[in-house]
Amino acid sequence: MSLHPCRECGHEVSDDALACPHCGCAHPAVQKSLGCGGWVLLFAALAMAAAVIRTVIERH
Ligand SMILES: [Zn+2]
Repeated sequence: MSLHPCRECGHEVSDDALACPHCGCAHPAVQKSLGCGGWVLLFAALAMAAAVIRTVIERH
């Protein structure tokens, strides 16, 4: 058992806690993973970077 900061309120909670004793969020020691929206944002950022790079290359 070790302590981790709660992903919602930041208080230290045990990694096997089912709920945060401070804010009540479920599985507080489990970090938020990159969800579907995160991948879409990452892809959009890459596409934008590629477009900018292409524009810079065409100018030269
Ligand atoms: Zn909490």
